[in-house]
Amino acid sequence: MTTLITSLTEWQRLRPTLGTSLGFVPTMGNLHAGHASLLQQAAHDHAVSVLSIFVNPTQFNDPTDFQHYPRTLEADLAIAKQLHVDYVLAPTAAELYPHGYRYRVSEQALATCMEGAHRPGHFEGMLTIVLKLLMLVLPNSAYFGEKDYQQLQLIQGMVNEFYLPITIVPMPTLRAESGLALSSRNQRLSTEGQARAAKLYQTLCTAPDCASAVSTLTQHGFQVDYVEEHLQRRFAAVFLDGVRLIDNVPLSH
Ligand code: AMP
Repeated sequence: MTTLITSLTEWQRLRPTLGTSLGFVPTMGNLHAGHASLLQQAAHDHAVSVLSIFVNPTQFNDPTDFQHYPRTLEADLAIAKQLHVDYVLAPTAAELYPHGYRYRVSEQALATCMEGAHRPGHFEGMLTIVLKLLMLVLPNSAYFGEKDYQQLQLIQGMVNEFYLPITIVPMPTLRAESGLALSSRNQRLSTEGQARAAKLYQTLCTAPDCASAVSTLTQHGFQVDYVEEHLQRRFAAVFLDGVRLIDNVPLSH
């Protein structure tokens, strides 16, 4: 049975009754097969699985992106039920930020490049909400996708740095047959746009260096935010039809 909980007070009352084997998957909803792979792993590894759905306002630097972010709670609940998720936590911003945004978690090194450089405040908002959710849910393990590799590294770093007794489990990027990384933002692309978007992954895998990846992507009609190499991986962020897409591949690829 899948139970939806929207009140944090109710969740905090319930949490001590849930035992000592709990796997957690935080998301912003609009669930797809990528999220499902994390939820399946969490349920496989633990007696109790918890999914959170919260479109976190503090991590959006672009108000239009926040406004257009797909919110599909009913469909998400149906997927959660199919996957036998035990609890879906869907709190409100008012309850999660009762004092506004006074307390924040920031990181001063990895968070200053790539997504951090191009989306001011994004990682501060992300780390702040992930810390809040981890401390509310108190999981044994939390599952995060390599699709957001810089985010995953920052979360792992925060957990190490603040001695949080939680295992962070990295999960591989799920892709469409074309190679396009599954993302909630893909549905804002036209069918033709989705076909063209596959060039992002193909180019990241095949370009001899970052500069030639930028020029190939530009030729294919992408507006390139960056292509960079860090942590033995090649990362990119691009716009296609006004939709911002990110992806990364291991350099040995
Ligand atoms: P989001 O709802 O986009 O914030 O994503 C929630 C979690 O799902 C994050 O840990 C993401 O990295 C992960 N995720 C998103 N897309 C994929 C994908 N295509 N494959 C694997 N994990 C993903």
